[in-house]
Parts: sequence; structure tokens; C-alpha cells
Amino acid sequence: MNGAGAPVELKTFERIVFFCGAGLSAESGIPTYRGAGGIWGKYRYEEYACQRAFDRNPGKVWDFHDERRRFVAGCEPNPGHHVIARVQARKPDTRIITQNIDGMLQRAGARDVIELHGSLWQVRCDWEGTVKNDVDVPIQSRTCRCGATLRPDIVWFDDSLDPHVVRAAIDAMTTADLLVTIGTSGEVFPAAQLPFIAMERGIPSIEINPEETPMSRLYRYVMRGPASSMLERLDYTG
Ligand code: NAD
Repeated sequence: MNGAGAPVELKTFERIVFFCGAGLSAESGIPTYRGAGGIWGKYRYEEYACQRAFDRNPGKVWDFHDERRRFVAGCEPNPGHHVIARVQARKPDTRIITQNIDGMLQRAGARDVIELHGSLWQVRCDWEGTVKNDVDVPIQSRTCRCGATLRPDIVWFDDSLDPHVVRAAIDAMTTADLLVTIGTSGEVFPAAQLPFIAMERGIPSIEINPEETPMSRLYRYVMRGPASSMLERLDYTG
């Protein structure tokens, strides 16, 4: 074991890919999808997070997303988000792929985050084919300048992933020299398949998660613990 109990030293890698899931933001107070307190235990996604629900009642779906914005805006990035942003600042070839929609990595200073499932902080006009940032809580306008109803630019249940975003994620996995997967159950597809691209190339891979996952046995190293302290241990540069 190297630096303070970490399986590898990050400083010896140049093209690290961080692959993040809801567990990364758990210590910021944002519930994970599957864990205790997850929102889909309380709300039926069929009513709040799918295109059919939006077509039926956009106001109700927007009210729900405004409430999520308000909640996430009241949370702060945790030390795990900051470690990832710091590593990227030191090593410009670092790539960050997240399944999260909360924007916490960017608030910690991370750039060019590949957001597989979209963002709570972007809105889309399907009529114009445009996407723009909107960080207001509640959102300033639910209507595009063209008159169409804006929708959150989030990959809802039954939506497809944006092929350009998937391409960027595949490229990152194809060129990485170290894979660090943090806080994902590995049960949401197709995102869960991406780490295989890096693993197949034989590069070192690390899973950070307090719980065992269906993917754990595929990783070369497993760090059992919460994202922030495990990432801090990994970034130990003494
Ligand atoms: P998931 O809820 O399926 O799994 C979360 C994983 O995080 C679990 O394996 C759990 O053991 C682990 N975990 C819990 N606390 C942790 C901690 N402190 N440190 C590290 N790991 C911890 O999440 P998923 O695999 O990301 O898939 C759920 C889907 O819902 C994804 O699309 C996800 O991004 C989305 N989602 C996003 C947010 C967010 O934006 N913050 C929150 C909930 C769900």
C-alpha cells in the first residue's frame, strides 16, 4: 500500500478519469437514487420525470424541478468534489464523467464535466434545438423566446443519452491511464458500461464506495468508505 493507505499515488498518473455517481454528492446532503431518503421512493417518476408526464402537465413537472433546484442550491460541494477539481487543476488531461445532474463538481471549480444525464441548471427548447444555462431559483421563465415551453435538460426516465456526450465519455475512457469510479451502484445503463472500456485496456481501476456493488469484483482496487475521505486519501501527496 502506498501514500497513507491508498492503493496507488495519483501523482504518478497523467490521464485520470473520474467516473462519478450519486454517492459523490451524498455527503453534501443530496440523497442517492437507491439509498435511504432517495426521491424516487417518495415521488413516482411517471408523474415528475419523464417526457409523458411533461407533455401531460408541464407546470407540475416544472414545480417539481424548481423544488429540486431550490434544495440543491442550498447544499454545498463536499471535500470529494474539491479533490476532483484540484486534481484536474494540477493535471489538465484529467477527465470527469458524472451521472449527477446537481452541478456540484462545477461549483467546486471543475471544468468540462461530461454530464451523462444532463443538468438541473440547463434548459432546453426542443422546438429550436437549443440549450442554455439557467441557474435561477425558481427558473426565470418556463417559456422560450420562440414561444415553446422549455424543459429541464435532464435525461429523464425513458430518454436517450445525447450521443455527443456519450462519445466524449467513451473517448475519456479510451485514453485514460487510471480509472477512479466513485459512488455509483453500477445499475443504471448505459452509463454503467463505460468503465469496461477503460478496464478492458488493462489500466489500473479503483472503486470508491462504502458498499459492495455488482461491479466491485471487476476493479483492481476497492476502497470501502465515503467518497470524501477516500478521495482525500488517494490524493495524499506526502
Ligand atoms: P445510485 O443511487 O444507484 O447509487 C449510489 C451509490 O453511492 C451506492 O452504491 C451507494 O453505496 C454509494 N454511496 C452512498 N453514500 C456514499 C458516499 N458517501 N460515498 C461514496 N459512495 C456512496 O446512484 P447512481 O449509480 O449514480 O445512479 C442513480 C441515477 O440517478 C444516476 O443517473 C444519478 O446520477 C441520478 N441521481 C443523481 C443525483 C445527483 O445529481 N446528486 C442524486 C440521485 C440520483
